[in-house]
Amino acid sequence: MASPSLRFDSLAVHAGREDLNELGVHAPPIDLSSTNPLPDVELGGLSYESMANGGEPGPGGNVYARLWNPTVARFESALAQLERAPASVAFASGMAAMSATLLALSQVRKNAHVVAVRPLYGGTDHLLASGFLGVETTFCDATGVARAMRPSTVLVVVETPANPTLDLVDIKAIVAAAGGVPVLVDNTFATPVLQNPLELGASLVLHSATKFIGGHGDVVGGVVACGEDLAASLRRTRAITGAVLHPLAAYLLHRGLTTLPVRVRAQQRSAMRLVEWLTGHPEVVRVHYPTNDPAWASLAGTQMRGPGSMLSAQLRGGPEQVDQVTRGVRLFTHAVSLGGVDSLIQSPSALTHRPVAPEARPRADLVRLSVGLEDVEDLERDLAQALDSVPHGAGHPDACGRLALR
Ligand code: PLP
Repeated sequence: MASPSLRFDSLAVHAGREDLNELGVHAPPIDLSSTNPLPDVELGGLSYESMANGGEPGPGGNVYARLWNPTVARFESALAQLERAPASVAFASGMAAMSATLLALSQVRKNAHVVAVRPLYGGTDHLLASGFLGVETTFCDATGVARAMRPSTVLVVVETPANPTLDLVDIKAIVAAAGGVPVLVDNTFATPVLQNPLELGASLVLHSATKFIGGHGDVVGGVVACGEDLAASLRRTRAITGAVLHPLAAYLLHRGLTTLPVRVRAQQRSAMRLVEWLTGHPEVVRVHYPTNDPAWASLAGTQMRGPGSMLSAQLRGGPEQVDQVTRGVRLFTHAVSLGGVDSLIQSPSALTHRPVAPEARPRADLVRLSVGLEDVEDLERDLAQALDSVPHGAGHPDACGRLALR
């Protein structure tokens, strides 16, 4: 572990790299072995048994890459340090992390039940509503958690800020309402730069590492930070079910952590400028951003250190204008995902939240923006021309226009 006295930005650069000097290297080594030579049957077998039960490798070594990979373990150590967690466990994607958590906790009790606070990312909502993993879910709002709890409840799931409306949930209040049942906070939008849910009483913190942690739109991964007992149970689940993070992805995610604080703060600065500008725009009915949530006044500084770089806007022209704007942008890319260095725009009701039940699906007049590292004046000009552009059907910018601006 890096020195506990290091401040966050120093930890982001150095965590998980503590032994590099000793190894005589400057960048973390990438171990691509799918299998490993064994010293002998007895030691190899004991190591296997330890890892298959969620423990660490013994003197018998790493044995097999579904059980343990040192490049992945470096990233896990770094992320745990940034989330102020005893441990973290990495997975092939954010959804694999969520599935493994549900599987691990549903082993604790027969007919396991989950309470989930909406809104949530559409994929998470879909997974929970489907009952796919044999887990029954009650959906509620933040005030309904205590009422929804049952003796069979094994987990409470919340997302704050939530995808896509940026609603804020008071984590401490949810933990109190859960009455000792583990609370999982999806911290994908806030990142550990802006929020550390474990310090507020949550038991598990989940990230779609595909987003801000990777930060460059070129890697898919997920990670859960938690205490050592839960981590052992997640590692065991991962070893049994197999949704491991590839070591090349782990290397990229670990590298992503080094610039995470700088990226998050710079992207946040631009998002705040765009929120201010969009708020006065005649084509925009409402801007969704953490600073506009009534809970911001009490949570700013206590739960969150900043509002982040995700925002959504309701457009006056409804779904037709959503179509027009997403076709009209030239610098923003019309694409799902978020948290990268380049700005993205998309319609949650048509895409990321399409599988959500109609009564909980986001409004069709909403566009979600992920603000990147471009110059904010270029981003503002791009949105201005897309909002002012001719309606869909009367022609829209072509690929040449897009390339010219890039
Ligand atoms: N959680 C949130 C808040 C997300 O936005 C996403 C994906 O968009 C996920 C979880 C799922 O992550 P992944 O796409 O890496 O499986």
